[in-house]
Order: sequence, then C-alpha cells, then structure tokens
Amino acid sequence: MIDAIDLTKELIRRPSVTPADAGAMDVVEEALSGLGFACRRMKFGEIENLYARHGTARPNLCFAGHTDVVPVGDVGAWSRGAFDAAVVDGVLIGRGAVDMKSAIAAFAAACATAINAGQVTGSLSFLITGDEEGVATDGTTKVVDALRAEGEAVDHCVVGEPTSSTTFGDMVKVGRRGSINVEIAVHGVQGHVAYPHRAANPVPVLLDLLQRLQTRVLDDGCPEFQPSNLEITRIDVPNTATNVIPGIAMARLNIRFNPSHTGADLAAWIAAEAEAAGQGFAGTVSVVPQISGEAFLTAPGAFTEVVVAAVRDITGAEPELSTTGGTSDARFIRALCPVVEFGLVGTTMHQVDERAPMSEIRQLQAVYERLIARYFEAFGAS
Ligand SMILES: [Zn+2]
Repeated sequence: MIDAIDLTKELIRRPSVTPADAGAMDVVEEALSGLGFACRRMKFGEIENLYARHGTARPNLCFAGHTDVVPVGDVGAWSRGAFDAAVVDGVLIGRGAVDMKSAIAAFAAACATAINAGQVTGSLSFLITGDEEGVATDGTTKVVDALRAEGEAVDHCVVGEPTSSTTFGDMVKVGRRGSINVEIAVHGVQGHVAYPHRAANPVPVLLDLLQRLQTRVLDDGCPEFQPSNLEITRIDVPNTATNVIPGIAMARLNIRFNPSHTGADLAAWIAAEAEAAGQGFAGTVSVVPQISGEAFLTAPGAFTEVVVAAVRDITGAEPELSTTGGTSDARFIRALCPVVEFGLVGTTMHQVDERAPMSEIRQLQAVYERLIARYFEAFGAS
C-alpha cells in the first residue's frame, strides 16, 4: 500500500524547480514499480519524463501530472522551509503541496487500493513530466507525440491539477481556453519634435493599432466558455528626452480565447490590422505571435459523468464543469484521448506558504479511488 501523505512529503523534499528534477522522478518511479507498473523514463533535452503502465488490456485510464514546481519566491516570507514538508495544525506546507505533488501521491495510493481490490479490468497508467511550469517543450507534448507514434492505446485521462475553486470538489475542468501572446514593434524615424516632417513617429501608429484590436468584441462566449478576451500587457516607448520623436514603440498583448477562434485566425487578424494601421507610415510595423495552446472542450458524456459521480460520492455535492483559468498540459493530452482535470483547491498554488490540509489530500485519494472503481464499471466490460 502507499500512504498519500508520506509520498507527498517525500516529493516535496526534492526541490524540483523547473527544469531541475532533484530526484523527484525517482521517487515516483520507485512507488509505481512497487505496485507492479512497468516504468519507462523518457528524457527529452534535460527534462525527466515518465510513462508507467499497469496491465496491458484496455481500456487504459491514464493519470497525468508534473513533478516540477515554480520557484520559492521570497524565501524569508515562508513560515516553514519550502522543501521541508512541515505539518502545522494538520496542514502540509511546501512547494508542490497543492500544485501538484499531492495529486500524484493521491492517485498512486488510489491505484494501490484498486489493484488490491481487483477492480482494474483494463490498465492504469501515469504520464508524469518535469516540464509543466517551464516552457513545456520537452515535457508532455513530446511524450504524447512519442506515445502516438508507437500506437500506445490511452483511452481516457485525468489530470491532477488543482481545479477546485473555493471548497474541495466544487469544480472539475472539462476544457481550457486557448492562449496567444503577441509582440508588436513599430519602427519609425527618430527626429526633432519641432521638425516632424523629417521624422516618422511610431507612437500614433501603435496607438491606432492597439485601439483597433481593443475595440473588437471577439465573441459573446458560449455555455461552456467565457467570452474571449484581449489584454494589452505592456507598452514601451524608450525615450528620455522631451524634444525627441522616438524611433521605436513596442507593445505586448495576450488573448485567452474559446473554440470560436484558433490561434492562427487571431494571428492573421492582428497581422491584417497591423497592415491597416501602417498605411502611409514611413516606418514598419512588425507583429510576432506565439500560440501557447488552442482551446478545447471534452464534451459531457459517460467519462465526465464518471469523474463527477466520483466527486459526488465523497463530497455529497455536485461539482461545476468549468473551462476557466490558465492553460495546462491537458492541451497536449487532448490529442491522445478525452481529458478531464480534477484536484485540490488551488488558492495557494505558486504562492509563499503553499499548503494543503492533510484531510483534503485524503479526500482527493478517496475521490480518485471512486473514480477508478466507477471507470472500470462503466468502461471495463467492453
Ligand atoms: Zn500544475
């Protein structure tokens, strides 16, 4: 058997700040090997990844998560060491206590219960990466590509991100908005403010472009998604003088979008507006888009019902199905199989004194136990 609290503590004590692994993946591998999982380390670049599978039959229910954590931040502001895994009044404190070493431990403990009870009529698997909080280029996306190339059958996936909003079990995520970052640079001609005909001021062009982008209502949202939203995050005009027309003006923006758009459509729209704003301008307008994920939705059905019912079994309340919040590795896994996310309350993730009540980690294990049992009841006989 596996104790979810002990395993969480062991993981927290490995300071695996992206891209460092610090032995965290060894801890996961050792726990899963002990349960009879066939473990495969998949290293891409400097990143440790792990795919582990128990059984060879289908259906294959996969748990996905990450061992890496964000930096500690202000060390002096922590009430306990960020990697000490201290317990104060029943609350476990440490980086990764919520996001999401506890979820890996809780699912591993739930697997032990299910295997011992003979409930697993197919396979259980783990897809664990050390690169979720970083650039995420050598993590889940590469593992998913490799598994697809091999024809590995993964039927459904649960991601252990901390999806609960204010109380444990109040929210399950069934999709995520897409995200695109855009860098804009308008290059003009620097000159004297008293002689504007000898210069080309990039500032009015940038303001015109941002105004065009900001005024468009992208959509009104839909039942599963909030309206898409564009936020200007930075405007820069390097200029220390009062009598100089600057030579360059720059801006950055981010759009969180629902499935009524694709990253490519939004990038094309911004490029077209940039061209329009630059009409008759003696300089250049450059736009560099970077799409970090497309929007997706796992349609409500038998699989989402398994997850919802498992939560209801333990909390007695109906979780909300949501697509709010930031992106997660679910954006890569959806290429492999339907994916749903469920985990602890996320309020302290990435903060100083990140912490989780031990009772909630036990509840998370209980939900995962019900989820596995219900999953093989619903899909296992096929
Ligand atoms: Zn996370």
